[in-house]
Amino acid sequence: MLNQASHVLKSVFGFDQFRESQQAIIANVLNQQNTLAIMPTGGGKSLCYQIPGIVFEGLTVVISPLISLMQDQVRQLNELAVPTCMLNSSLSKDDYQDNVNAIEQQKVKLLFLAPETVLQNSILGLLGRVNVACIAIDEAHCISEWGHDFRPEYRQLNQLLERFPSAVCIALTATATPRVREDIKRQLHIAQSSEYIASFDRPNLYIEVLPKDNPYQQAKTFIEQHPEQSGIIYCQSRSGVDDLTAKLQHDGYSALAYHAGLNNVKRSDYQERFIRDDVQIIVATIAFGMGINKPDVRYVLHYDLPKNIEGYYQQIGRAGRDGLDADCLLLFGYGDTGKVRFFIEQMSNEQEKRLANMHLNQMLALAETEECRRLPLLQYFGEKELPEKCHKCDNCTNQPKDKSDLTVSAQKFLSCVYRTGERFGASHIIDVLRGSNAEKVLQNQHNMLSTYNIGNEFTKKQWMTLSRQMIQKGLLRQDEQFGGLKLTQQAGEILKGNAPFFALLQQPVGQSHSSGKTF
Ligand code: ADP
Ligand code: ZN
Repeated sequence: MLNQASHVLKSVFGFDQFRESQQAIIANVLNQQNTLAIMPTGGGKSLCYQIPGIVFEGLTVVISPLISLMQDQVRQLNELAVPTCMLNSSLSKDDYQDNVNAIEQQKVKLLFLAPETVLQNSILGLLGRVNVACIAIDEAHCISEWGHDFRPEYRQLNQLLERFPSAVCIALTATATPRVREDIKRQLHIAQSSEYIASFDRPNLYIEVLPKDNPYQQAKTFIEQHPEQSGIIYCQSRSGVDDLTAKLQHDGYSALAYHAGLNNVKRSDYQERFIRDDVQIIVATIAFGMGINKPDVRYVLHYDLPKNIEGYYQQIGRAGRDGLDADCLLLFGYGDTGKVRFFIEQMSNEQEKRLANMHLNQMLALAETEECRRLPLLQYFGEKELPEKCHKCDNCTNQPKDKSDLTVSAQKFLSCVYRTGERFGASHIIDVLRGSNAEKVLQNQHNMLSTYNIGNEFTKKQWMTLSRQMIQKGLLRQDEQFGGLKLTQQAGEILKGNAPFFALLQQPVGQSHSSGKTF
């Protein structure tokens, strides 16, 4: 059957080769094994169910949460002469009935359905009258409450599997924290050995971070490096989007705004215009992008700091989907960090707050690192084999920046983590180091520790930067549930003076050289 799949790849889609992991995924599905495919956006998930759908005798049902996405795929597949249709409320009564008839006559290979309609009696009845060979669940992370986009309708999809036990199931997602993966596998009866995780690296994306000094000027410079090319600029807020769009339009750029405050008609009109190259730049909030498949976006600019790596990755992933080079620039300013922190402070649920803080810290680690930017990015997705240098990020291609020997400061920090019992977050540790009289410090009698008030060489902000770099270098681990910092074995080496610690701080530092002292 795999031969057949290769044949379909060439004859229907015109591609010569499977991408890494597509082949293994498709082989597993053709082998009737329920399968979980985790692939980055643009990685080529669609073929993983489209090809089995064509090869199998019988119908393949594709569950997809967005009508626009379905429409796209139905159109594309029909253009390739693969009989495909959808059933949803966007159709006229006649078209709907025509589709039902075609399905009943077994003329349709792939049927696209929304999760909320698939369990309707009429649809279940229809599916019961035909041979359902395969059930594909796109955006499968929506199944999990641990995901970033939980949808209750997805929870019930396992009923569909029970109803059609001879159909093989493939679940696909670009999101893959371990917890979400476990959830999907459990609910859809997918064996451990049938989980495939493609590399999340997108080697054609150049990743750069610049200090946000004069953002509008920086944005213009960046745009001008890509004349006549399509690009997306992400801003944090709707008003930010509107302001920036107005400025760009005023300066003669071909730009449109996109955010959830615009009505549907405008939004889909602007999206269409972008896809058709009538307009070059879309300035948008994160509302823009899900489900758009424009292969030749040549750059993504983050005008503000994204809230987490997940979002950042999804957004830069909209560039260079054709595999050609694309540029991603993040403008990083401490003011933005403050805004995000303020937003997090407003959260009432403690667990959510902790999670949001952790996400922010991961994002900051990427923005502040002086190592390859791909390390924090790929680490986030659980990738094990990491390159030392990617040659496609600013840190790998630029001249090395001056790092300072901050071993003594690192020792102070680590020692303070140890002496406070490895139960506290960075903010508290820094309060102790800087001799704060905060209630939490006094209550815990941390003002009595030898590490109290020995860290005035840095501001709180600098210590925060340092602590994130220590987390990133693996000296400290952050407890997922409670947020406390814990020492790793590597930290022991620094504390014993067996290894140095070099790092880069944004502002000049006054390092105290009182080495030899124990804290
Ligand atoms: P995803 O759904 O994972 O975001 P898509 O399925 O839309 O990604 O695929 C992204 C792009 O890659 C599409 O333009 C698709 O045609 C192309 N593509 C997928 N697989 C291959 C392949 N084996 N060879 C060449 N191009 C491919
Ligand atoms: Zn790199």
